[in-house]
Amino acid sequence: MPELPEVETTRRGVAALIQGARVSEIQVYQPHLRWPVEIPSSIVGQRLESVGRRAKYLLFSFETGTLLLHLGMSGNLRVLPRDTPCLKHDHVEIVFGGTQALRLNDPRRFGSVHWHVGDPQTHWLLSGLGPEPLDPGFDGDYLKRRARGRRLAIKNFIMDGRVVVGVGNIYANEALFLAGIRPTVAASRVTLAGYRELAGRIRHVLAAAIQMGGTTLRDFVNQDGNPGYFKQSLNVYGRAGLPCVACGTALTSIRQGQRTTVFCKKCQGAQSFRPPRC
Ligand SMILES: [Zn+2]
Repeated sequence: MPELPEVETTRRGVAALIQGARVSEIQVYQPHLRWPVEIPSSIVGQRLESVGRRAKYLLFSFETGTLLLHLGMSGNLRVLPRDTPCLKHDHVEIVFGGTQALRLNDPRRFGSVHWHVGDPQTHWLLSGLGPEPLDPGFDGDYLKRRARGRRLAIKNFIMDGRVVVGVGNIYANEALFLAGIRPTVAASRVTLAGYRELAGRIRHVLAAAIQMGGTTLRDFVNQDGNPGYFKQSLNVYGRAGLPCVACGTALTSIRQGQRTTVFCKKCQGAQSFRPPRC
C-alpha cells in the first residue's frame, strides 16, 4: 500500500514534470473507484498551479478548484508521452499541453478522485485529519495532550489519522522500536519523555523514507508501470522471530487491530518508556 513517503515521492516526481502546464484533455476510463470519479470538464484549458499533499491525498490545484487524489491500496501515478498505450487498470488520464499524460493506475480501485472548489482543507475527507508528522506543530507535548484518558494501545493511537496522519504500520512498528516503547502499552500510560522520544522517531523514520524515495524518483514516473517502492532498512517490520538488531533476542509478533506488530520484548519494556539505546 502506498504510504506517506511514497505519496510524497510521487508528489515531487509528478510536480517536476507537469506543474505549470495546461490541461488539454481528460479521459475517465473507469468512473467507479472507491467513490465516483469527480473531474469537471471545465478543467480543460486550466493551468496546474501546484501539486500539494495532505496526509496521503495529492492536491492538484487548478485555477478554479482542486483535485484531491488518493492512491488507495494499489494505485500509482505515471507521467508519460500521451501516445503511450494504456495499461490494464489505467482508469483516469489527464493530458497536459497535448503531449504529457498523467495516468492513474489502480488494480484494486480503492483510490479516489474528488473535485473541490475553495480551500481543500475544508473538504470532508481532509477536515478531520490530525497534523502532518513533519510539520512543526507535531511533537511529544501534542501527543501527550491527545493521549489523556486514552486506553487504546499506543501503536493504534499513533496510527489514528485524527491524532497524526501518515503513520502506517511499517513506520509505527519502527518508531516504537527506536523509542523503546512496547506497542501494547495504553496510550495514556506513555510518559511525556516517552512521547517526545516517539515524536522524534516518527519524524525520523518518515523523513528517512522520503529521502530514500527521492533517490528512486524516476521509478515512480517511468513507463514500465512499476511504482518503484523503495526498500528501507527495517529493524523490526517483517523480521518476526529473527534476532533483535540491538540485543539479539528473537523478535515477537502479535496482531493488533488486524495489523501485524513486531517488537523486542527486551528493548521495548513493559513500562511505558525506557531511555533509548541508540
Ligand atoms: Zn532487543
